[in-house]
Amino acid sequence: MKTIELVVPCHNEESCVSLFYDTVRKVFESLPDFRFIITYVDDGSKDNTLAEIKKVIERVDKGKVQYISLSRNFGKESAMYAGLSHSTGDYVAVMDADLQHPPELLVKMIDAIEKEGYDCASARRVSRNGEPLIRSSLSRAFYHVINRVTVIDLVPGSTDYRLMKRKVVEAIVSLTERERFTKGIYAWVGFKNKWIEYENVERAAGTSKWSLFGLFRYAYSGFLAFATTPLRGVIYLGLVIVLLSIVFAVYTFVSAIHSTGERNGYATILIVMLFLGGVIITILGMIGEYMARIYMEVKNRPIYFERESNIAEGSDREKLAQNQDKHGDKE
Ligand code: UDP
Ligand code: MG
Repeated sequence: MKTIELVVPCHNEESCVSLFYDTVRKVFESLPDFRFIITYVDDGSKDNTLAEIKKVIERVDKGKVQYISLSRNFGKESAMYAGLSHSTGDYVAVMDADLQHPPELLVKMIDAIEKEGYDCASARRVSRNGEPLIRSSLSRAFYHVINRVTVIDLVPGSTDYRLMKRKVVEAIVSLTERERFTKGIYAWVGFKNKWIEYENVERAAGTSKWSLFGLFRYAYSGFLAFATTPLRGVIYLGLVIVLLSIVFAVYTFVSAIHSTGERNGYATILIVMLFLGGVIITILGMIGEYMARIYMEVKNRPIYFERESNIAEGSDREKLAQNQDKHGDKE
């Protein structure tokens, strides 16, 4: 019997935790051939999320629900990593706690992997109903740019909601970068993926933690995580400026020979200086952005710290190894 594990990052989701379990359980009743485990990752919640998780654990069969509580709020990306690196299921899915990732899709995802031979199946939002226009058009622009300038190909509307075989999970966990951008990492590791489309759903309860500014920062760091094109771009920019200045020099020289009037280059010098100064500062800033990222990566800090958990210490690694052995025999 195969195990499906759901990794659920939760940050201040006290009103969703229990609802999530009940909804998912109903879906799994229609899938008697699978065992399921839910791994809640409490990402430094300030409300009663952890207490709610423990309440769920009390009322369900032992071993069905586990949790990891992080030492502070590390962000969804790190929370997902914490969950995935502890996961032991044959198939693992990452899902939001607010039920915006419809659990019914799991049935289709399982079919894609079991019957159609895919390695993973990802959910893709085809409508953005209930979302402000500015948000959806900015998001469209983001996908357009990132696909043009990076090696990865992101599909618009793609989400973090994805069911994966063990080997895909291990590939993702093996990427230990700190500035994580899971959508990009999903695309980068490759494997055969099936897109499963769904209509946007509103949050079940609570509120979204994303502000427009937060989303912008997320897109920006996603872009920098995969694109080095801007660094190459500045070389071309430099060359263009050099060319322009040569043209300008020739023009000035020629017109100086032909004119007899008084020469006053004050404005020209000021404009050129300000322009070049601006260009140089911008480029320095850009290089600084990449340098800051290099700095954070070379510090090699752990991606998260665990404060408490009901997953027995060390056992996850052993289970992982056993799981690998099992699969090794079969494949
Ligand atoms: N989340 C998290 N850590 C954070 C922010 C969010 O683990 O710092 C979780 C949150 O609990 C939810 C998921 O990430 O399960 C998606 O968050 P949210 O619903 O706020 O984002 P949206 O659906 O609006 O993109
Ligand atoms: Mg949400």
